[in-house]
Amino acid sequence: MTAPFAPLGTPLKEGAQRLLLLGSGELGREVALEAVRLGLEVVAVDRYSHAPAMAVAHRCHVIDMLDGNRLRQVVETERPSLIVPEVEAIATGTLVALEAEGWRVIPTARATQLTMNREGIRKLAAADLGLKTSPFRFASTEAEYLEAVAAVGLPCVVKPIMSSSGKGQSTVRQASEVLAAWQYAREAGRGKSDRVIVEGFVAFDSEITLLTVRASDGTHFCPPIGHRQEAGDYRESWQPCALHPDTLAACQAMAQAVTDALGGWGLFGVELFIAGPPDQPQTVYFSEVSPRPHDTGMVTLVSQHQSEFELHVRAILGLPIGEITLVQPGASAVILATGASDHPQYSGLDRALKVPTSKVRLFGKPVAHPNRRMGVALALGDTVAEAKERAIACAAQVQVIL
Ligand code: AMP
Repeated sequence: MTAPFAPLGTPLKEGAQRLLLLGSGELGREVALEAVRLGLEVVAVDRYSHAPAMAVAHRCHVIDMLDGNRLRQVVETERPSLIVPEVEAIATGTLVALEAEGWRVIPTARATQLTMNREGIRKLAAADLGLKTSPFRFASTEAEYLEAVAAVGLPCVVKPIMSSSGKGQSTVRQASEVLAAWQYAREAGRGKSDRVIVEGFVAFDSEITLLTVRASDGTHFCPPIGHRQEAGDYRESWQPCALHPDTLAACQAMAQAVTDALGGWGLFGVELFIAGPPDQPQTVYFSEVSPRPHDTGMVTLVSQHQSEFELHVRAILGLPIGEITLVQPGASAVILATGASDHPQYSGLDRALKVPTSKVRLFGKPVAHPNRRMGVALALGDTVAEAKERAIACAAQVQVIL
């Protein structure tokens, strides 16, 4: 596979292993903490100051990561041993060039390029690997879009090819909604790409993230994580998610195929839709893959012996993963801002933390805007249902004061 294990060093000293984090959100903050625990030097990058991971990094840079020249400048200044993307919106062409010059990109520059937009990964999954997906078409003009909707049929889901957290995404159920979805997707995609994907709506019974780790001791799967999304963004996740054993095997086979095709070391979040009840074999649709920790995987901060962040750092360092152990059924529930503020404050933690087993993580984001994820509540239970109930009850007590 990729580079063998290199000795670890001491931060800010000769021989330090330096990790350059491209994207410094809440997931990056946990990656940075795990890296710091192994004595790595962490440099956090994002397009705004005081991003969550910057609070735990040795240094930071504020740049537009879609600007290839600025990105190269930071890499050449910092000389990292590992370049670790945490977001999709990065000048991935520059990552490809940097990798060819010998810099190490996690998991691989090609993986970041293919997953940066929905088109690359759909083509890989559906056309090259033959994985089952919803029917789909791409469009760059209104005429192409109308043709795509006609081909896919209603209901369908329209998304910019480059977007996350449900931005620009809508479900079109009737003809009168077709044009509004086009305009909404184009507005959200502006500045990144004008292209959209039109996907057939999958009437799934559950959706899961299968965290998959490619490491020096092989490929490992975490127990499946179930989640609930609203407006294209996750609200709650839980682990394990009950699946028929044949379905689990089918999910793992899909995850193995797609992560093998992307290559490199690290943790991947493989998103799958599951149709049918868990007491019989179900139909599995491949949806997406992130070549890095996944937001729904925050539940593993409490439910697994090694969280997804610890697994990612271990894998990228070339260390073995061993066995992945579920400690207890767990759940996460997001804490969202209800409006805008440039000095958000938080109340209700005294009540929230009365919920048995609960923990709250606040991300310290400098600015709130409506529906921005500001924190997460985590809880365990004897059953998934109990863990979910607790995480939701805990999150409900935390208010973001604007
Ligand atoms: P995505 O950004 O593609 O992960 O989409 C966000 C969420 O929207 C998914 O997690 C699903 O809940 C929903 N969604 C996306 N695509 C489809 C689809 N083709 N059919 C049904 N629901 C979808």
